[in-house]
Amino acid sequence: MMYRKVPITSILATVLLISLCNVKTYAQKYWQQRVNYQINVKLDDQKHELHGDIIITYHNNSNTALSEIWMHLWPNAYKNDKTAFAIQQLENLSRGFHYADESKRGYIDSLDFKIKEQKVLVLESEGFPDIAKLILPQTLAPGDSLIISTPFRVKLPNSFSRLGHVKTAYQITQWYPKPAVFDASGWHPIPYLDQGEFYSEYGNYDVKITLPENYVVGATGVLQNASELTFLDRLSDSTKKIKNFSEVDTFPASSTTYKTLHYLQNNIHDFAWFADKRFHVLSSEVELPKSKRKVKTYVMFTNKYAKYWKDASKYLNDAVYYYSLWVGEYPYNYCTAVDGALSAGAGMEYPMVTVIGETGDGKTLDQVIAHEVGHNWFYGILGSNEREYGWMDEGINSFYENRYMKLKYSDGFMINKKNRNAFTKLLGLHYFPFGYELYLTQQLSSSQGKAQAINTHAEEFTYLNYAAIMYTKTSLVLAYLEEYLGVEKFDSVMQTYYNEWKFKHPQPADIQALFERETGEKLDWFFNDIINSKKDIDFKIANIKKVNNQLQVKVKNTSGIAGPVLISSIDKKNKAIESYKTQAFYESTYVYFDSLKAKKIVVDPGYIIPESNRNNNSVRLHGPLKKIEPLRLQLFGGLNRPDKTTLNVSPAIGYNTSDGVLAGLTLYNNFFPFKKLEWTVLPMYGFKSERMNGAAQIIHHVYPERVAEIETKFSLYSFSDVNKKNEPYGLEVYNRFFKTSLGTEVTLKPSSARSRISNKLSYRFVFTQESLNYNYRDSIVGVDYSTETPNFYHQFKYNRANNRAINANSFMLMYEYANNYQKLNKEYHHKIFAVFKQKINYNNSRKAILIRAFAGTIFANASRTNASNFFSLSGNNDYTYDKAFFDRNNLNRNQMHELDGAFKANTFMPTQRQIIGVNVKAPFTSRFPVGVYADAAYSNEKQKINGSTLDLGFGVYMPIVADVIEVYFPIFYEQRLYSTSSYKEVIRFMIDFQLLQPQNLKRSLQLF
Ligand SMILES: [Zn+2]
Repeated sequence: MMYRKVPITSILATVLLISLCNVKTYAQKYWQQRVNYQINVKLDDQKHELHGDIIITYHNNSNTALSEIWMHLWPNAYKNDKTAFAIQQLENLSRGFHYADESKRGYIDSLDFKIKEQKVLVLESEGFPDIAKLILPQTLAPGDSLIISTPFRVKLPNSFSRLGHVKTAYQITQWYPKPAVFDASGWHPIPYLDQGEFYSEYGNYDVKITLPENYVVGATGVLQNASELTFLDRLSDSTKKIKNFSEVDTFPASSTTYKTLHYLQNNIHDFAWFADKRFHVLSSEVELPKSKRKVKTYVMFTNKYAKYWKDASKYLNDAVYYYSLWVGEYPYNYCTAVDGALSAGAGMEYPMVTVIGETGDGKTLDQVIAHEVGHNWFYGILGSNEREYGWMDEGINSFYENRYMKLKYSDGFMINKKNRNAFTKLLGLHYFPFGYELYLTQQLSSSQGKAQAINTHAEEFTYLNYAAIMYTKTSLVLAYLEEYLGVEKFDSVMQTYYNEWKFKHPQPADIQALFERETGEKLDWFFNDIINSKKDIDFKIANIKKVNNQLQVKVKNTSGIAGPVLISSIDKKNKAIESYKTQAFYESTYVYFDSLKAKKIVVDPGYIIPESNRNNNSVRLHGPLKKIEPLRLQLFGGLNRPDKTTLNVSPAIGYNTSDGVLAGLTLYNNFFPFKKLEWTVLPMYGFKSERMNGAAQIIHHVYPERVAEIETKFSLYSFSDVNKKNEPYGLEVYNRFFKTSLGTEVTLKPSSARSRISNKLSYRFVFTQESLNYNYRDSIVGVDYSTETPNFYHQFKYNRANNRAINANSFMLMYEYANNYQKLNKEYHHKIFAVFKQKINYNNSRKAILIRAFAGTIFANASRTNASNFFSLSGNNDYTYDKAFFDRNNLNRNQMHELDGAFKANTFMPTQRQIIGVNVKAPFTSRFPVGVYADAAYSNEKQKINGSTLDLGFGVYMPIVADVIEVYFPIFYEQRLYSTSSYKEVIRFMIDFQLLQPQNLKRSLQLF
């Protein structure tokens, strides 16, 4: 993040000082600061502003005298497009805030910090308007407290993240001046972020909110106004009577009279409130499982999702009940969930109140409410440092959320029996157990070599890994720990954790120490190896032997991180005979089975361990190929099955003018999760050429530590490109091309996981051969003959791309050496070609002006006759057969690709030895895919009528799928050697089939 790259010297100095102090304070008893708040605030719903006063009582419970207090002024995160929040939004490819005008942004001002009537010196952090440092007039001694007060005004932003408003629906969160945490490792001043949460001091809150009378408010704390409690109950009574909620969702006018709501609560570390005049209310209560104390609950919602929210009291009550049962009793008397215009995720937690964004169905609403309510435990009550150790709140909370969903919705399968249909069956999804989609989410990152350790700071995660690792992988590995310890033991340890650390700041070392103390086991394999490593565990059955009437199974741990293995022997009916769990181990271990009746031995039959490779988990005890799973055909492509060797088959259909309609099959070994070795075979029969053609490809990926990725690819490709029958004298002309290539591409390690800059180096060898056959049916006229034209190419490429959210660019430099060894008079060429592409974004849509600049030169020996290897301006000179063309026979037709000059109008100039030029495409901002383009190039070799060396063209184009399917309508273009008879011949199009194939598409998806 920005605040890491450009550290403020004072933050550094503070951290350094405190960490020096730590040396002596570290071993001391646990302490934490206490911060109490008294806030008076008034909502101005005309100007969308808050006007308030705050009194902060700061208790210094540390052993350090404080001369300053770091203060968060988080509404300033929305002040301009240079804040840490704004920069992160762009990094995560969200452009809305960057392009928002001033009036939609927000800030906090009118501050005047005082201590005992004395003005406090406030230092703003350079580059971080949402962090300030208060220089105390007198140092605050250990054990002492002080009172800081200030007025404030908040201009509320539109809804870009958590704080904001949509018209007069208000989400008032992270809104008041608030001291940063000071703990044993020092001050924690952190800018507000969307990706990356919070760390706050506990204290007592006394908050008064003044606003027009007809607002309904859901807030943290216990409401003190009896009249307002009656008002909410009345609303609840009338909501319960509504049979059909209206479709209308308009805002009523605000009352001219105001009310002041008073909230009190101790032992919380934040206060949020949500106000909306449209809210329906349902109140309810839930009895806690142990103490039988009753907690009053409210759900508040608008008409929009009322059909789901009408059942939400049950969801909210269930969440409070089960988290209380599993972790520890809910300590507060109220719990509220509101339906709000949230722009950060599906839901957001605050103490005692939870806001939920858009929702699609009841089950999802239940899940999101359970997750957010669950944060009362993992964030609210156990106040870990979410910014640094997000797994301690999001990860652990996701584990319980999954337990909740399993309890309420599982019939054992990922696709519930009642949700199954022909489509889910076709994709082979019925086999997988409940929750398997979590494993798949985690594998999306891990199986592509893009994993990060669970214990990564929230803002350093890639956008994908924030979800796939911090939430999902943590929940999976906790299920592994739970299985290892047993549910009862696990729950009792977590309950002890809750009791000992509630209303405190537990750190990773604290939870590990507690687990180890309670279980009496060293759990380094979990808290060190699994939490701190980006590797996935992988077990493999190495061999099975009969020893003393027992089966001795040697299990290898191939991952380099330790873990216990779960292993079973399975009988003919697929039931477990014996199941064991071992201690955690590196390298290998032995497991002994008494029964000799087993059909197979399976590692992790219950899908508990998030393994990187499930295909080496089972060995059959009888028959041949014991380690190879039986073959299974999967139509279209589906998930890998650990118990089968899947062969994916999908019908393939194609067309080109020489082969005619092509029909065949795509066969491939793998769809998802990604495997290191993936192959595809595509045999196709051409009905016009009456020949078999097709393609095949083998790709191998490795992800070494020192470079990010090495991809090695071998491919074969053969189709017809001339097919003429019924020519004079019964002549048949037939040409087929064959191409094979072998290459390696190395992706260099990026500067950080979040970097959007990629650097790739590659080498590729390409062999092509044209086989031209002349067959005379009438043999008197001519003699059949055939020619073969082989070519060899060596291509070296460097690619650099900066795939940022705005003004992305890329650069490609290629050197090619070509020769033809077969000819006596050896032909060769050297070719250099460079392309620079720059996008220019100008608004919040994905649309951007595209500029492509290119330059190239060729040196060839005099005998080099293969002019088709030279540059063409028209984007149809594909002599290495990388692109699919409908009509290779007659390349001056309508199809083009972004090759060489990439001119949209056909210039028919195939033999340029030097070219330089530029292409511009400017899509209009309208919803329709229409824009204008222009091309200009200078080339040295001219074969055209007017003798000009400058080529120009412009027109209108339709980016149906930008850069993949586009159609061009030239307006101005230069007439070339051939004269066009109709405008139809001038219109051109681009379809990039390669990008549309599922095997390529899945890897080219932008996965952050
Ligand atoms: Zn969460």
